[in-house]
Amino acid sequence: MDDWQQLLRGSLTKPEEIAKRFDLNVEEVKKVAEVFKFRITPYYANLIKEKGDPIYRQIVPDAQELAENSGITDPLDEDHDSPVPSIVHRYPDRVLFLVSHSCASYCRFCTRKRKVGNSDKINPRHINAGLDYIRQHSEIRDVIVSGGDPLMLADSKLEYILSSLRSIKHIEIIRIGSRVPCFLPQRVTTALVNMLKKYHPLFINVHFNHPDEITEESARALNLLADAGIPLGNQTVLLKGVNDNPETMKRLMQKLLTVRVRPYYIYQADYVKGTEYLRTPVQKGLEIMQALRGWTSGLAVPAFVIDAPGGGGKIPLLPAYVQSIDDEKVVMRNYQGELFVYPQTSSGKAAKIPAAACKGPRSPVREAFPELEEIIC
Ligand SMILES: *Cc1c(COP(=O)(O)O)cnc(C)c1O
Ligand code: SF4
Repeated sequence: MDDWQQLLRGSLTKPEEIAKRFDLNVEEVKKVAEVFKFRITPYYANLIKEKGDPIYRQIVPDAQELAENSGITDPLDEDHDSPVPSIVHRYPDRVLFLVSHSCASYCRFCTRKRKVGNSDKINPRHINAGLDYIRQHSEIRDVIVSGGDPLMLADSKLEYILSSLRSIKHIEIIRIGSRVPCFLPQRVTTALVNMLKKYHPLFINVHFNHPDEITEESARALNLLADAGIPLGNQTVLLKGVNDNPETMKRLMQKLLTVRVRPYYIYQADYVKGTEYLRTPVQKGLEIMQALRGWTSGLAVPAFVIDAPGGGGKIPLLPAYVQSIDDEKVVMRNYQGELFVYPQTSSGKAAKIPAAACKGPRSPVREAFPELEEIIC
C-alpha cells in the first residue's frame, strides 16, 4: 500500500472520533453522518487551530446541515444534462466526466453532496459508457475529469482513463479537478506526475479556500505538478466564516500565485440542501471582486461566478464598472471609484447587443420558487 493510502486510512471517519476530538455531541454527529458522508484526513484535521475556524467550518459535520427548507439536492440540475450516468454535457464543446465517487475529505458545502461518497451514484462501471459517449460526440474537445476526486483513483485506473481520452482524436485538452493537493498533498507523488505528464495538454484545477491551506506540504505537491508542465488553476467557493472578507480572499489569491497556481473562479456557494449556514449574500462576492481588481496583480483576480440554479451554467458577475454606454461614449468607473469617459468610434452606430431570449428557469428552482414564474419573463 502506498504511503498516501496509509494516511487516508488514518482519517477521521467515525462519529465517536469526531465528537471526542472536537468536543461535540456524538448523537448529533451521528444524525448528520446518516445523511451526509464525512471524512477528514489527519493532515487536514491538523490545520484546524480551533473549533469553528475557517478550516473547521469547511469539514466538520454540523447539526445545521439538517436544517429544514434549506436548498435543493441537485441545484444545478446536473441529472437533466446527464446523457449517461458519468457525463454532464451542458456546454457545446466540453463535458464533465465523473470518474470517482470518493474524496480525500468531504466538504460540508459540496454541490454534489447527494453523490459524493456514494458508489451507486458515481461508479467505475459507468466509465466505459462515458468514454463511449465522448468518442461518439466529435463536438467535445475538452473533458473535465471530475467526481468526487479523480486523484483518489489508483495511478493505473486514472491512467486508463487519461490514455483512453488521449486516443480520441477530437479531444484537444483534458482537465482534472481535484482537492487532493489541499486535503492529502502526500498523494501527489513523483510516480503520479510522471504518469500525468504523458497526457499533455493536461490542466489541473485545484481547490483552496483559505490561505492557511497553503502549507509546505501542499506547496510541494503543487510544485511537482507545475514542474511537470501542468498549468494549475484554482477554484474557490465563497463561504461564510471561511473566506467571506476581502482581506482573506486577497491573501489567498496572492499566496496561490506564489505556488504557481492561477486563480480561475470564485464560486458563489450553490443553493444546496444542508449548506445554508455556509452561504453568503451575493453582494459579498461583488465586494470582494471590487477589492481585488486594481488593488492587486491582475493575475490574482479570478472570475466571480454563480452556477445558475436549474442548470443555466456559470454566469459571471462584476461590480458595475460601466456607468452608461451609448453611441457616443462609455462612462466608466475605475477601481478607485473615479469616472472616466471613452469616446466611441465615429463611423457607424455601435452594434447593439441583442437581448437574449428569455427561456426562464428550469426545474428545481421552479419547484422551489413557483412565484418566480411570473417575475422572470
Ligand atoms: C463548470 C463546468 C464546465 C467547465 O466550465 P468552464 O467555464 O469551461 O471551466 C463544464 N461543464 C459543466 C457541466 C460545468 O459545470
Ligand atoms: S472535494 Fe469537491 S467533490 Fe469532494 S466533497 Fe469537496 S467540493 Fe465535493
